[in-house]
Amino acid sequence: LSERARDVAIVGGGVAGCTAALYARRYGLDTLVLERAVLGGQAAVAVRIENYPGFPEGISGAELAQRIHEQAAKLGVEFVTAEVKGLARREDGTWLLHTDAEPVQAIAVIVATGAAPRRLRIPGEQELLGLGVSYCATCDGFFFRGRPVAVIGGGNTALEEALYLADLCPRVYVVHRRDALRADQYLQVRAAARANIEFVWDSVAVEVLGREQVEGLRIRNVKTNEERVLEVSGVFVAIGHEAQTEWLGSYVERNNGFIVTNERMETASPGLFAAGDVRDRPVRQITTAIGDATVAAYYAYYYVADFKARQQA
Ligand code: NDP
Repeated sequence: LSERARDVAIVGGGVAGCTAALYARRYGLDTLVLERAVLGGQAAVAVRIENYPGFPEGISGAELAQRIHEQAAKLGVEFVTAEVKGLARREDGTWLLHTDAEPVQAIAVIVATGAAPRRLRIPGEQELLGLGVSYCATCDGFFFRGRPVAVIGGGNTALEEALYLADLCPRVYVVHRRDALRADQYLQVRAAARANIEFVWDSVAVEVLGREQVEGLRIRNVKTNEERVLEVSGVFVAIGHEAQTEWLGSYVERNNGFIVTNERMETASPGLFAAGDVRDRPVRQITTAIGDATVAAYYAYYYVADFKARQQA
């Protein structure tokens, strides 16, 4: 067991986690961030972020993440590389985080583990990842200029990606499992107006074809069961995101795996907060993650102060 209980332990070193740490530290809390892989989270893979206020020329995701991390580290936030596997409430009311390294004890915990793109789980998807299969058109689209591509999904992300790719690629297939889009009307209108975007309705992807690189996508019409191959060099999967929250057991309430909180970022368990993309909410942006994190740190601070006052009483 770590030698002392931290005031707050933050799980996840992305934009939300680092921002929560920065604020918690400024409230004078003894703050530890646990990150299993590389700091920066999803933002760090974005080539260029153009909707982050204050940076009209845009900023690379890696640089933005690095700057937030540096700001937190400078204030004395401690960063540890460890994967959190589970947590438990101790008898004294503190939390115990089980990790693949030393366990960590903390009065408050902020979960900021983010979300990851949902996978199709079809043959070829994993094998050709980075060789034509991508989960981010704005990151990878440029490599496919002049070549036909497919986007899978019918939501806002799928249509935004299709519109982006339509500027680079001669043909963009949008493969959707139903005959009606989920995306907002304004995106539907814009996509319908593009001659090189072709909708493939009622169809699911069954296999990504190719050896060294993507050579095609086998799709199946769910109404007729007919299969055919789209000759594409790129497959962009845009079927939403999913959050890994099983490790939180019954300490939180979930919606589709995302953690339900109130406006204070409080989960179903006192002292356990969630912020950023892991939280159940409709908009998942860097700006909203930062907002969540700010609020979570604020109420974590009051929780820790109350906890300590009760202990002394
Ligand atoms: P969504 O969950 O909104 O859409 C996912 C799409 O993928 C749906 O069309 C869904 O089909 C389809 N899908 C899901 N699972 C599968 C599967 N296994 N096989 C095939 N198709 C599948 O995710 P998005 O990433 O598009 O958007 C996430 C959130 O972010 C939304 O709230 C969205 O509005 C928001 N957003 C907003 C933007 C904006 O306002 N400009 C831009 C991007 C995102 P079905 O429709 O049949 O369920």
